[in-house]
Amino acid sequence: TFTALVIEEHEGKARSVFRQLRLADLPDDDVLVEVQYSALNYKDGLALSGNRNKVARSLPMVAGVDLAGTVIESRSPLWKAGDPVVLNGFGLSETHWGSFTRYQRVKAEWLLRLPDAFTPLQAMAIGTAGYTAALCVDVLERWGHAQPGRGQVLVTGAAGGVGSVAISLLAKCGYHVTASTGRPETHDYLRGLGASAFIDRATLQGPVRPLQRETWAGAVDSVGSTTLANVLAQMEYGAGAAACGLASGMDLPATVLPHILRSVALLGVDSVMAPMPARHAAWQRLARDLDPAHLEAITTVEPMSRLPELAGAILAGQVRGRVVIDVTR
Ligand code: NAP
Repeated sequence: TFTALVIEEHEGKARSVFRQLRLADLPDDDVLVEVQYSALNYKDGLALSGNRNKVARSLPMVAGVDLAGTVIESRSPLWKAGDPVVLNGFGLSETHWGSFTRYQRVKAEWLLRLPDAFTPLQAMAIGTAGYTAALCVDVLERWGHAQPGRGQVLVTGAAGGVGSVAISLLAKCGYHVTASTGRPETHDYLRGLGASAFIDRATLQGPVRPLQRETWAGAVDSVGSTTLANVLAQMEYGAGAAACGLASGMDLPATVLPHILRSVALLGVDSVMAPMPARHAAWQRLARDLDPAHLEAITTVEPMSRLPELAGAILAGQVRGRVVIDVTR
């Protein structure tokens, strides 16, 4: 048997418990993977937080959305035993059993070969948050909504997982990065990743005037709500904001004015069902542009046994950078 973190129904409420599973308990999908590392994402915080749980669509559900590991058995020609693989999203912990476990069976077409540039631990230090940061930079550049060296690019939720990786990627490509954070104690850390200017996140949480001074040549937002509405109102003419998160809320109290008077673009970014070509491009960018020293500075490794308390910490905005989960402990 092996240990997994399972969300179960208990007296009408969802709660998470460590359970001993056998291989026979796993879903009947075509690839059996031995998980080496997983990672903590904001979504895991939501999934593991009992009554706020809107992530798992059916119970019991093994939690966890990211894994790096080795193929043990495959009924698909796409993979063979020994292949090193990564999986981000595709409904893990929502509609399919997830990654907080030593072993899992998954669909062959969800897996990506572990990029040569990364160890399994590094791949999970990137994880969904980091690969989403790369998707955000990709989308800004694909639509020509940001150009290196021109103006300031804003990253909100800067000290979080998406924010930390976004800063490192943008700075490496020559963008001038302004970090918006509520934690001044992280300024040195963020400067080390490449941020050159800082704003207090409270300045983006006030009332939203529809058109404000044109300040940002691009933006990566993982916060949503009033923050994103203020960011849109502060974008330069023709600039774009990549929106991927809701750390402050899922509402968007905005007007159309920045869009219809300044051609500002709101670019939505989803990582869970992103098609394979977009995933490959994002991982290639990470392999090319993410400084290994930055990745190390971003990363903390924790045992799976600490997940219940870490889930609370990430929802409270207390986690800095990325937390890798060692599923053997
Ligand atoms: P995280 O590590 O917790 O980072 C979120 C950051 O947002 C925090 O570190 C904090 O940064 C800031 N923040 C937290 N609560 C806030 C509040 N109430 N008001 C303003 N700022 C707040 O989480 P993550 O893993 O990076 O994920 C960030 C967001 O992106 C989450 O909403 C997540 O669900 C979303 N996401 C979406 C996708 C997708 O596919 N679209 C993929 C990955 C993540 P400071 O302390 O620096 O202020």
